[in-house]
Amino acid sequence: MARDGLGVTPQSEDFAAWYNDVVFRAEMVERGPVRGSMVIRPYGYRIWELLQADLDGRIKATGHQNAYFPLLFPQSYMEREAEHVEGFAPELFTVTHAGGKELEEPLVIRPTSETIIGMMMAKWINSHRDLPLLLNQWANVLRWEMRPRMFLRTSEFLWQEGHTAHATADDAIAETMLALGIYNDVAVQIGAMGTVPGEKTPRERFAGAERTFTIEAMMRDGRALQAGTSHFMGTRFASAFGITYTGESGAAELCHTTSWGMSTRMIGGLIMTHGDDKGLVLPPAVAPYQVVIVPIGRAEAPLDAAAELAAGLQLAGIRAHVDDRPQLSPGFKFNDWEMRGVPIRLELGPRDLAAGTALMSRRLTYGQAEGGKEAIPLEAAPGLLTAELAAFQAMLARRAADFRDEHTAVVDTWPEFAAAVAVGWALALHCGGEACEDEIKALTTASPRCIPLAGEPEQGPCVRCGGPSAYGKRVIFGRAY
Ligand SMILES: [Zn+2]
Repeated sequence: MARDGLGVTPQSEDFAAWYNDVVFRAEMVERGPVRGSMVIRPYGYRIWELLQADLDGRIKATGHQNAYFPLLFPQSYMEREAEHVEGFAPELFTVTHAGGKELEEPLVIRPTSETIIGMMMAKWINSHRDLPLLLNQWANVLRWEMRPRMFLRTSEFLWQEGHTAHATADDAIAETMLALGIYNDVAVQIGAMGTVPGEKTPRERFAGAERTFTIEAMMRDGRALQAGTSHFMGTRFASAFGITYTGESGAAELCHTTSWGMSTRMIGGLIMTHGDDKGLVLPPAVAPYQVVIVPIGRAEAPLDAAAELAAGLQLAGIRAHVDDRPQLSPGFKFNDWEMRGVPIRLELGPRDLAAGTALMSRRLTYGQAEGGKEAIPLEAAPGLLTAELAAFQAMLARRAADFRDEHTAVVDTWPEFAAAVAVGWALALHCGGEACEDEIKALTTASPRCIPLAGEPEQGPCVRCGGPSAYGKRVIFGRAY
C-alpha cells in the first residue's frame, strides 16, 4: 500500500502494487461491478482516444475501411473452425435467454470477429475484382478472465480488429506484415515503447492461424507485454465459411485471410514502460494534458496570465491545462500532476510574471537538460514548449529502447538463461519441443515470446536440453503479462 495520500508503492518494492496504485490514483480506471470488468475513466479514456485516433489514421491511410459487425452471433459460427472454437471455448460468454425465453440456439458474445466477418466476406466476395477486401472494426470484445488486471487482462476490453481477404497467400502475408509494421510504428513513435517485432512459436499462435506475428514490448520490471498481433490465416477461415472468388480461369478459388488487433492493453503497456516511483510518466503523444500550468498565489494576475498562456499554447496545438483549483496548495498540485505523469509543468507566480517568464519543470530527464526548474520567456512559450515536448517524446523512446537492450542477453548456457529471464529477456536457441518449453516455464516462469524478425540465421544446441535448435534463429524468452 502507498504510504501517504498521494504517494504510490515504490516499483522496486512491489511492481504489481505500484501498478494498481497508479491506475486507481491517477483516476484512469474503476473496477466494474462484474468480475474482470473495468470502467475507463476520462483520464484513461483520453489516452485511448489519442492512441485510437493515430492508429485509425494509419489504418485508413493504408486503404482499409471501417465497418461494424454485431456483438452477438450464433454459437454454431464459432464451431466451424475447429482450432478457433477449441482455443476460445474457455473464454466464451454465451447468451442462452432473451426476452424471458430460452433461445433455440445459444448466442455468443464476440471474443473476436473472424467468424461473423467471415460469413459476410463469403457473401460480398465473388470475383477477383472484389479483392483485396480490407476491413477494420473498432469494438469491444468479451473474454472471460480468471485473474483480471486493469487494462492488461479484463473480461471486456476495447480494440480494433482488422480483417482482410486476398487472392494469394503472398498478398495475405504482405498484409499481415503491413499491419505488424503499423503496430510497431504506433508503439514506438506514439507510445515510445521498447519493442521487438517477431513471429510467435507454433504453440503461441492465435487459435486458427497458420502464422502469428507479434510486437513484444519490454516493461520496466523486465517482463514482456504482447502489444499487438497480426495473423495469417491461410485458407482455413475461407474454407470454413466459403470465402471464395472466381479466378480468371473461371474456377472457384479460396481466399487467403488475415486478422490483426491492438487493444486497450496498450495503456497498461505505456504505464509499465515509462512509470516510476512517483507515478505515471506519459509520452506527450498520448498525454491528456501535455503541459499543466499552476498559477501561484491568490492574486488575479497569475490566474489571468495562466489562462492566456494556456490559450496561446492550445493555439499552437499543445494540450495545455490550468490547474486553478483554489482549495489546493501549489505543492499538492505539483505532486498530483507528477503522479499523473504530465510531461511538463509550468509555475506562474507574481515574480515570474514581472519578469515575463514561467518556471518550467520536466517530469523526468534522461540526458535532456538536467537540473530543476528553468525560467522560460512567456512570449516564446508556444514554440519552445513544442520543441520541449518533441524532445521529451524522443527521450522516452530512447530510454525505453536502451532499457530493452540493457535487459536482453544473448545466452548459450542454462545458468545464463536463468539469470537473464529473472531480470529481462534471454535470446537463446531452443529445440522447439513442448516438453522442453514446459520445463523451462516450470523452472523460470519464462515462455517463448517471439522469434525476432531481425535475428540472424543460427543453429546450435538447445539452451535447456541440448537437442538441435528449431526455427533457424534465436528465440526471445521472457516472463510475460
Ligand atoms: Zn530443448
